[in-house]
Amino acid sequence: MEIFDPAEVWPRERIAAIQLSRLKSVTAQARKCDFYRERLDEAGIGPDSLRSLDDIRRIPFTTKQDLRSQYPTGLLCVPPAQIVRMHCSSGTTGSPTAICHTRNDINTWADLMARCLYMVGVRQEDVFQNMSGYGLFTGGLGIHYGAERLGCMTIPAGAGNTRRQIKLVKDFRTTVVHILPSYALIVGEQLRAAGQDPRSLPLRIAVVGAEPYSDEFRRRIEDLFAVKVYNSYGLSEMNGPGVGFECDRQNGLHIWEDAYLAEIVDPESGAPVPDGEVGELVMTSLCREGMPILRYRTRDLTRFLPGDCPCGRVHRRMDRILGRADDMFIIKGVNVYPMQIEEVIMTFPEVGQNYLILLENDGIGDRMRVQVEVRDEYFVEDMRMLHNLQKNIARRLRAEILVTPQVELVESNSLPCGEGKAVRVKDLRADK
Ligand code: AMP
Ligand code: ZN
Repeated sequence: MEIFDPAEVWPRERIAAIQLSRLKSVTAQARKCDFYRERLDEAGIGPDSLRSLDDIRRIPFTTKQDLRSQYPTGLLCVPPAQIVRMHCSSGTTGSPTAICHTRNDINTWADLMARCLYMVGVRQEDVFQNMSGYGLFTGGLGIHYGAERLGCMTIPAGAGNTRRQIKLVKDFRTTVVHILPSYALIVGEQLRAAGQDPRSLPLRIAVVGAEPYSDEFRRRIEDLFAVKVYNSYGLSEMNGPGVGFECDRQNGLHIWEDAYLAEIVDPESGAPVPDGEVGELVMTSLCREGMPILRYRTRDLTRFLPGDCPCGRVHRRMDRILGRADDMFIIKGVNVYPMQIEEVIMTFPEVGQNYLILLENDGIGDRMRVQVEVRDEYFVEDMRMLHNLQKNIARRLRAEILVTPQVELVESNSLPCGEGKAVRVKDLRADK
């Protein structure tokens, strides 16, 4: 196995030892800001309190609300002059959260990112086109620095402008792309609509992440472009991309445990869940000096996958993100995650690239409408076929979520899609 960094193949004992020593040093570093010093003092955690990795549970959680309350620079743990970059979270609600990085932080991040890309076979000879938004969003510069570190020719294409993206891929013979899942299908469909075969592009690898998507969705992208799709997970609070990444086995995302300490807890109680059970991912940055964050409640739901990965890396694997704790909605008393809906509808070959879940209240009760785009070649079919498709989707959804939604078939490209992360659910019930 070719590796980028020896830390990838460290044995468990070595990883655990590094984690403990880094947990101690990052906690000491965090004390340099008032917020963490007060928090740690309140919890009675002094310089010698952390004796084993389990002692991390004595450290209080950090929430998004905490980060907001400290915006913009309350969590700074180095002199401001040492900061070379800041990024914001792409959160759509409330005030932003900002993370400041030192030169060392940027270097560590770029190394981690390069490690991820190398793991799935990206090499210096590759041409890497980053189709994610640049600017404050970490999927731009974060991935960019990793690809450059590997020596790839890196094209900062940014988000959107599909025609230009395709031209760049063709002109520069792009072999690897970084792209949002929702956008990948849009690019493919646009090519097909123009009578071109997406499989004829020189692409071989697509790094796909930044928003939840199902395995079914992955297969669609792989088939559409004849590429291998690798799931990339990250969040700006933990730098950005480079936190968890699939290896060539495509079975779970390795979390780089020499740089991050991951826990999975019950989203309600905060207590650790038994191994293998779904809960909320909690992350500690073990290496960051500019703004270390301890025990961050990501709100992302996943589980640790049991056993070691056959690839030989012992860094723990997490399942693809199943959704965000905040995305769950309750309809007629049933808890539903948008990903459950996606998994069902994407198994229908007639279904196109976009869908939208609408939750409404007609004054009598809650109602769920699922609008599903149907591919052009099917939309011209006769009414009976469309009617059957509609009924089948509703039936399969009912089997999955135990609620019968109203399914509406709509034309391709008729549902709203922006350049950023896809919006899958609109809850209009409060408007009543
Ligand atoms: P941001 O901090 O704006 O980059 O957003 C980070 C959030 O994006 C994470 O907390 C996840 O909710 C989501 N996210 C990032 N990567 C993935 C992924 N591969 N799968 C699912 N959700 C993801
Ligand atoms: Zn692996």
